[in-house]
Amino acid sequence: PFSSLQPQPADALLALIAMYAADTRPDKIDLGIGVYRDEAGNTPVPPSVKAAERLLLESQDSKSYLGTEGDMRLLDLLAQLVFGPAATPGHHLAAVQTPGGTGALRLGAALLARANPSAQIWLGTPGWPNHALIFGNTGMPVRTWRYYDPQSMRADFEGTLEALNQAQPGDAVLLQACCHNPTGTSLTLRQWDELASFLAERRLIPFVDLAYQGLGDGLEKDAEGLRSILAESPSALVAYSCSKNFGLYRERVGVLWVLHNDAHELDLARGNMVSLARATWSMPPDHGAATVRIILETEALKAQWVQDLEEMRARLSWVRSELATAHPEFAPLGDQRGMFSTLPISPATVRELREKHGIFMPESGRINLAGLNRHSIDRFAAIMLPYIRS
Ligand code: PMP
Repeated sequence: PFSSLQPQPADALLALIAMYAADTRPDKIDLGIGVYRDEAGNTPVPPSVKAAERLLLESQDSKSYLGTEGDMRLLDLLAQLVFGPAATPGHHLAAVQTPGGTGALRLGAALLARANPSAQIWLGTPGWPNHALIFGNTGMPVRTWRYYDPQSMRADFEGTLEALNQAQPGDAVLLQACCHNPTGTSLTLRQWDELASFLAERRLIPFVDLAYQGLGDGLEKDAEGLRSILAESPSALVAYSCSKNFGLYRERVGVLWVLHNDAHELDLARGNMVSLARATWSMPPDHGAATVRIILETEALKAQWVQDLEEMRARLSWVRSELATAHPEFAPLGDQRGMFSTLPISPATVRELREKHGIFMPESGRINLAGLNRHSIDRFAAIMLPYIRS
């Protein structure tokens, strides 16, 4: 029954992992896959997560179903973290726990497509390739705009507004809240405010993807852009991921929120979110979600988590400032945040870096800065500089 299917491209990052593993050079450097790494190159389970998992093992006395919406207490605790203690005045809120941020994006895309089949989704480029895949799979027409200027290595805000001028009322606009994947660039708070008014005036629906809260400038600051958007828009969607900031990648913890200032319309959205989730995965996985809930409701564990997160954030910031202060060519990296930057180099250069120097990154030139450490950073800079200059 499958002979009519088209072959699908293999995941380029997975191929890169295989090539890296097969390389025998002792000083090889992996800047490919998008997970946090400590100085030793490991992606550890944070101490707060370990401690919460121990408590969970001791205290959990049933694994019976919780329901399609997931762990309601977790959803409340995460809402406080994301929207602030004052929550979202003027909005009613519906939440569904999802398998990771990807599940939240997918559910939000399905909801938008069901609500308005002719609505388009606008994605900034370069972006996270899965965004186009996820929205494309729901049948939503995907439109793109240039979010980032590769030459200056900075966000192209004028280009963003100009392109979004072509969007139709009811279209959705995907925005990464912080630590942009793959460029690390953000809008300034003033630009977020301007964009917020722009979207509200044109009746465009913000769909904000918050996958790195706490890894940029801290938990509160990383939510400021999102909060600025919500202050203006009557309705919005928010996809959240606990994969990075809790180190829970494979446990699949995420949330989709839909916000609306009209309670009746929000109820329609909630009912449809729940029904779409039931038809897709029925119930979200619980282990990682219960772990996050225990961390956030236990004062000592929350304090430990804030410290764990700060350790990750500080390390990423150290790598950025090492490169930015030592070399003017890397100065933009110091203004960027999070794990990723996209270097202005060609696929041919990427290949040469891999073959000649054992430096591994995808063809796009995206690097995960967490792949560098005290031993490799100077060698990396020395090899890269001539390519960046030319
Ligand atoms: N959004 C962005 C921008 C991401 O980079 C990621 C992870 N790579 C996600 C969402 C979702 O991650 P996950 O499904 O693993 O929670």
